[in-house]
Amino acid sequence: MTPRTAVPLAAPPRAVRRPAARPASPFRFFDAAVVRRRRLGPSIVRITFGGEQLREFAGGGRDQSFSLFLPHPGQAEPVVPVELGDAWFAAWRAMDPSVRAVMRSYTVCGQRPEAGEVDVDFVLHGDTGPATRWARGARPGDRVRLLGPRTAENKSVGFRPPSDTDWVLLAADETALPAVAGILAWLPAGTRARVWVEVPRAEDTRPLPTAADAEVTWLVREDGRAHGAVVEAVRAAVLPAGTPYAWLAGESGAVRALRRHLVSERGLERGRVAFSGYWRLGVSEEGLRAEALAGAA
Ligand SMILES: Cc1cc2nc3c(=O)[nH]c(=O)nc-3n(C[C@H](O)[C@H](O)[C@H](O)COP(=O)(O)OP(=O)(O)OC[C@H]3O[C@@H](n4cnc5c(N)ncnc54)[C@H](O)[C@@H]3O)c2cc1C
Repeated sequence: MTPRTAVPLAAPPRAVRRPAARPASPFRFFDAAVVRRRRLGPSIVRITFGGEQLREFAGGGRDQSFSLFLPHPGQAEPVVPVELGDAWFAAWRAMDPSVRAVMRSYTVCGQRPEAGEVDVDFVLHGDTGPATRWARGARPGDRVRLLGPRTAENKSVGFRPPSDTDWVLLAADETALPAVAGILAWLPAGTRARVWVEVPRAEDTRPLPTAADAEVTWLVREDGRAHGAVVEAVRAAVLPAGTPYAWLAGESGAVRALRRHLVSERGLERGRVAFSGYWRLGVSEEGLRAEALAGAA
């Protein structure tokens, strides 16, 4: 997540304008530490972060995401040049990758500002990823940093159905299960929703409380089958009539295939399909970030 600046402030009501004040970013750094850790299923662990500063963490619900900074093994805390303000990212990128903090994207799956706590569900997907390794070994007191929202209205909330939406389609894998849970918890009562969630094991499924009129289909991969069952399931589905809003997240290849299917084969308007590759098979988040930066350049 690259934090973006907020809406510019209104000009002061004076004949002679002063230089515009710099708009406050809707994002800031939060210091935090692990408070507790609970296994939710064979592939998912819930870690609760706590700290005084998290009382001001102002998540907007739904699929609110943020950047998490983790220490390398042997470091007491993640190394992020927060003292540089907006210049932190360039300085962080210029640092030695074995020293600078590991930066990864995660979703808020629970938040209690009065207690200064934020919950995050980590998918444990093997031994190659530093965030997964960290989550496997996390202990109370382990220090982290979050770059997250200071205002509930921020651009790291992606689920924004237009007002003329008749029904909602959600398709996700286990990394986007917290986002699906957040969206379902947020949907107004009676909203029609068709939901597909792909998870590695049957024990990774869980109740998804909602006031919406939601039909949830779990797709269990068991036995190491390849990712992407969600694509075939949506392809095969008979979808409700009316104007949909689709939200897709998970492995990039599956998300791309789903979007193509919905837009090209089902005729959904592009603007009604929100999509986000949360990870890509064979590429680390650093690799994805480097690609995105090269593309932007
Ligand atoms: C907006 C957003 C929100 C996200 N929210 C969550 C969340 O709440 N919970 C969560 O667990 N993840 C979430 N993710 C995905 C998470 O950021 C990635 O899975 C990330 O790659 C994990 O970092 P890592 O250090 O474990 O692996 P990396 O070092 O990034 O990758 C190492 C290897 O593992 C592979 N890999 C990465 N993720 C998976 C996976 N899930 N299954 C199998 N192989 C994988 C990569 O392809 C690569 O080959 C989110 C991503 C985004 C963009």
